Order: sequence, then structure tokens, then C-alpha cells
Amino acid sequence: MAEKKQAIYPGSFDPITFGHIDIAKRALTLVDNLIIGVGINSEKKELFSADERKILISEVFKNNPKVSVISFDGLLIDFAREIGVFSVLRGLRAISDFEHELQLSSLNRHMDNRFDCFYMMTSEQYSYLSSSMVKEIARLNGDVSSLVPDNVYKALRDKYHHV
Ligand code: ADP
Repeated sequence: MAEKKQAIYPGSFDPITFGHIDIAKRALTLVDNLIIGVGINSEKKELFSADERKILISEVFKNNPKVSVISFDGLLIDFAREIGVFSVLRGLRAISDFEHELQLSSLNRHMDNRFDCFYMMTSEQYSYLSSSMVKEIARLNGDVSSLVPDNVYKALRDKYHHV
């Protein structure tokens, strides 16, 4: 039997948006298993805790057995080594994403040459979409229902009380 194709899709996912979901769904046509890695980064000011982010993502993919959601602390390369998966999926929106991704990929490959990234271009309708914009709009009482799934919409409303 052929070996299972697995990939890690790492990120903050604070919170998950339709942009992330679109990338994950498209990548699922290429891999057998997608491990969504929720990074715990104490330097970043996060709205949702790692557990909350993990639960929101798990709810979105609850009917898809090809997706698992794991949170990880520390370096992505250490997480990759721990689970033995070195193919990493990232999404690209703008040129600025490219520069950041080139750095991330190069440094990770420098640390461990088994590491490799593959990229999917954002779908046009999500090219402007980021978790930080979603939070900003929700905080200012704007309507984010077309940008995030229902459970995230409700969670944002609960966080900010008035969304
Ligand atoms: P990070 O803090 O690691 O960049 P994010 O949660 O912001 O984590 O993003 C995780 C990944 O998803 C990144 O590769 C990012 O470029 C990608 N991504 C985020 N939003 C979109 C979008 N709207 N379209 C395509 N890719 C996206």
C-alpha cells in the first residue's frame, strides 16, 4: 500500500476564517491527512486561547476524518520532528506574505533539511481576508458573518459582547 501523504498546516488561527478553510479544503485534494497545527506563541497577543482556537477549528472540520487539529508550543520544526511530518502547507495572499514565507521556509530548512513547504494561492474572494482584520471589524461592531463560519461568528460576539 502506498504511504499516506500527510501535511501540517500551521498557523495562529486566531480565529480561523473562510480564507484558512478554503486553503485547507483545496489542500485536502492533494493529501490524505491534514494536520492543522495551532501555534501557541506567548509573544503574540491572542484573542482566543489555544484551546478555544483548537475547538473552533475542530468544529469546522468535525465531519472530515482527514483533518486533525493539534496545538503546539515552541518551534514548528520541533513539532514536525515530534509527529514525523515534514511537509508544510501555507497560504499566500500578497507579496508581503511571500517575503515572510521565504524566511520561514529557509530558516526551517536550515535547521532540518527534511522540512519542506508548499503553498497555495488564496482564492480571489479571500485575498484581503486576515484574522486580524476580522478581529478589528468584530471589535468595532461590524458584520463578519461573510468572513468566518457561524461558530466563530458567535465566539467573536461572545468575546466582544456586542457583535
Ligand atoms: P501565522 O500567524 O502563522 O501567519 P495565520 O493564522 O495568520 O498564522 O495564517 C496561517 C496560514 O494561513 C498562513 O500561511 C497564512 O498566509 C494563511 N492565510 C491566512 N489567511 C488567508 C487567506 N485569506 N487566504 C489564503 N491564505 C491565508
